[in-house]
Amino acid sequence: MSQSKYFSGRCVTRSRKLLGNAGNVSPASVSLTADAEQAESAGKRIKRHLSVEYEKESVEENNEGKERKWEPPRWKEQLNNVFTMRKNRDAPVDTMGCDVISDTTATPQIYRYQVLLSLMLSSQTKDQVTSAAMAKLQKHGCNIENILQTSDKQLGELIYPVGFGKRKVEYIRRTSEILKNKYNGDIPNTVEELCSLPGVGPKMAHLVMKCAWNQVTGIGVDTHVHRISNRLGWTQKPTNQPEKTRVALEAWLPREYWKDINHLLVGFGQQTCLPVGPKCGECLNREICPYARGKRSDKK
Ligand code: SF4
Repeated sequence: MSQSKYFSGRCVTRSRKLLGNAGNVSPASVSLTADAEQAESAGKRIKRHLSVEYEKESVEENNEGKERKWEPPRWKEQLNNVFTMRKNRDAPVDTMGCDVISDTTATPQIYRYQVLLSLMLSSQTKDQVTSAAMAKLQKHGCNIENILQTSDKQLGELIYPVGFGKRKVEYIRRTSEILKNKYNGDIPNTVEELCSLPGVGPKMAHLVMKCAWNQVTGIGVDTHVHRISNRLGWTQKPTNQPEKTRVALEAWLPREYWKDINHLLVGFGQQTCLPVGPKCGECLNREICPYARGKRSDKK
């Protein structure tokens, strides 16, 4: 299957339309304060054409005598197989990702705020539950002013039954106050500033940068990306934390794949490479997957 067919240009187009001048942000350097992240998960947006030009460039450089960096031996085959298995784009993340459930008819600032909120809600929460909570918030009025005027009790009721609801109410309130007072009602446009918000860690920050600002600053590694990367042998050594997996992936995965890999693998993890009982028997990677062949385990 053509990879370009897998990814439509929806998110990119939407983001560009919304960004206007605000999209001209400087790329974020990535010295992260990986503190506050407490297990967000993600509704991810993705979709773009993927080419192999970067890989050609790497090969040419290697032919000129430069040292070849480590990469998983059969990653291209494995990745193509995942593209094929994901061709229908019918996983929960495809219809309930963070940019899909955010209000695309709202102003750019409100849209970005909702992207941030939807990712905060998605931590430890199924996409269906996050989507339903966002729908209730939008009906209530999901903008900074209105959320700040809403009591904690009502906010908790609106987002119920998302995981860690009480803590998320606190994060949403404190974050909304910061956005109002420090960022003129918008969200920050760097990874560092996003990570300084309550409850926001590197994974969420990279996803926000991608979905809200159309900026690729790093790979958003959630529990699905972490698990599948380890099963497929995409980390040189097994990793025991998503943040370590992010670093390991960014060391070899060509940058043009960074934007899309989260969405691709999350859907794959929701449908085939399940956390418990992965469907290896129907997976196209079963012959070339270290986990399926007993060479990798989920235990680190
Ligand atoms: S063979 Fe099994 S463990 Fe490997 S990618 Fe496929 S579903 Fe996941």
